[in-house]
Amino acid sequence: MSKEDTEFNDIAESEIESNWEEIVDNFDNMSLKSELLRGIYAYGFEKPSAIQQRAILPVIKGHDVIAQAQSGTGKTATFSISILQKLDMSINQCQALVLAPTRELAQQIQKVVIALGDFMNVECNASIGGTNVREGIKKLEAGAHVVVGTPGRVFDMINRRALKTDHIKMFVLDEADEMLSRGFKEQIYDVFQLLPPSTQVVLLSATMPSDVLEVTTKFMREPVRILVKRDELTLEGIKQFYIAVEKEDWKLDTLCDLYETVTITQAVIFCNTRRKVDWLTDKLHAREFTVSAMHGDMDQAQRDVIMKEFRSGSSRVLITTDLLARGIDVQQVSLVINYDLPTNRENYIHRIGRGGRFGRKGVAINFVTSDDVRMLRDIEQFYNTQIDEMPMNVADLI
Ligand code: ADP
Repeated sequence: MSKEDTEFNDIAESEIESNWEEIVDNFDNMSLKSELLRGIYAYGFEKPSAIQQRAILPVIKGHDVIAQAQSGTGKTATFSISILQKLDMSINQCQALVLAPTRELAQQIQKVVIALGDFMNVECNASIGGTNVREGIKKLEAGAHVVVGTPGRVFDMINRRALKTDHIKMFVLDEADEMLSRGFKEQIYDVFQLLPPSTQVVLLSATMPSDVLEVTTKFMREPVRILVKRDELTLEGIKQFYIAVEKEDWKLDTLCDLYETVTITQAVIFCNTRRKVDWLTDKLHAREFTVSAMHGDMDQAQRDVIMKEFRSGSSRVLITTDLLARGIDVQQVSLVINYDLPTNRENYIHRIGRGGRFGRKGVAINFVTSDDVRMLRDIEQFYNTQIDEMPMNVADLI
């Protein structure tokens, strides 16, 4: 087993097993309210994604649901559509409470709910920290069918009686594994205690570690579990190119030549070893290029900082190993560079899947030495795809 395979296993995460088979591959066949259906199509969705095809109906039917699918595959819309379908619009009270780990995510969810519910006149409130409390109370008192928030502020709003829980029938935790681990867990329980006992619980996450799954047994009732495997990732929408660099030594100059193109967007650069990540980062710093680096030898606190900077966009180029091939979810990433070709075919699709999330453009550029040509052809064949030489106008494609 290579070093990178070992590193890979470090981040192996448990997966839930599906116990729900029904698939509805068309929004028209979900028996949705016509105003909601209109909202979905007006938002630009044509066909439900894999997780939407599986998870929307059990949620609408009232089951507790744990839904696990890769980031960027439409989980937000999964629960938003389900919530909107279940709202009784004649009651101007909160009927669904959604908690998210960050203020930004809560705001993003609020926007999606409002957009999808555009023709239903839905009121969706965001109760998040860092905003004026008195104004927050006023907004809540004006009435909202759906409240999306961060745990602390939501708890506060319930205690102040600004957010009334009597009519809440759905409790949704987005990024559930994060919400149920570390600092958040107690806060979630605190909120949960204040909800009517019959409240339906829906959990969504890209990952579901077994200890988190264990926690869910405490407050979920015979949950329907739905897993959409990562392997259902496709290469659709990601343009793939190679640059023939002949020799390893030429890769660095090639990357420097590309730097301007790279920073048009956010980019992830993959190397095959931790040492190489450090080496490349040093070389680029020496040439005064701004890049950040992350790999499994760094402590978690350091990794967290790097991720935060990258997610926020304050750092734009991240050099890393396969440690991040499967984890990272930054919407603005539209370019992935394989400074080294991955040592196995599976990692290729995971790596380049970091860019080109659902409906977005993505470009992958592979640096290929003479020794790599065989591997590149092998990847092409394996995925039945085409990897062309990088065109001059690659910047236009990003
Ligand atoms: P997740 O919550 O799984 O990370 P999101 O719900 O944020 O993913 O969806 C990622 C992107 O895909 C969003 O831009 C969203 O608008 C889009 N999207 C979701 N579902 C569909 C669909 N059925 N058709 C087209 N685009 C979709």
